Amino acid sequence: MKNIDRRKFMKMTAVTAVGSSLLMNSDFATAADGGLKFAQIPLPYAYGALEPNIDAMTMEIHYTKHHATYIKNVNEAIAAENISYATEKDFFANASKLSAKARNNGGGSWNHNFFWQVMRPAGGASNGKATDAIAGAFGSIDKFKEQFSQAAIGRFGSGWAWLVNDGGKLKIGSTPNQDNPMMDVSELKGTPLLCLDVWEHAYYLKYQNKRADYVTNWWNLVNWDEVAKRMA
Ligand code: MN
Repeated sequence: MKNIDRRKFMKMTAVTAVGSSLLMNSDFATAADGGLKFAQIPLPYAYGALEPNIDAMTMEIHYTKHHATYIKNVNEAIAAENISYATEKDFFANASKLSAKARNNGGGSWNHNFFWQVMRPAGGASNGKATDAIAGAFGSIDKFKEQFSQAAIGRFGSGWAWLVNDGGKLKIGSTPNQDNPMMDVSELKGTPLLCLDVWEHAYYLKYQNKRADYVTNWWNLVNWDEVAKRMA
């Protein structure tokens, strides 16, 4: 491991540890004087680390432009509209009462922080706890992947595919735009365990209109340890 990589790795390990200890409440936002404040987690790997499944330029633009803008905009909306929810759980549970700016950018902020965490460079091992539970719920891992992929490919326009825990039951579904299953407006409800961004900005540079190819290759990147952690 080169020195620079080692430094980056050490930094990323520390960040992951902090992030995961907070994840029982899936806290990516903290209460601040002016209301809730969303923050962008440091990307847990280099932009090019997911190559060739997701290219470096897509990752860089996705993280530094799209995601950073959602964070900036949701914090702006919270301040301008005096949104006073103390936790992101309350914020999303009241999504129906939020402005479009707060709802869309709040979802975009949270969903991407989560998405970065449930991926890792290809070649990582599976995790028995996650795969056993999933196989039990959906018949087999292959059947699960097929059903999740269908949710991702079948989502018309922009949105997300999800695996959630809904009161002890594992469910697959999708949400439009930047909605997520913690929102009261969402048809799919539950605690997110895994998600996949199917906005064109997530894959268009490399895959153009071939969303199905992006979804197929994305399975190489799933961080099953993170999925298992969220099943606790
Ligand atoms: Mn995105």
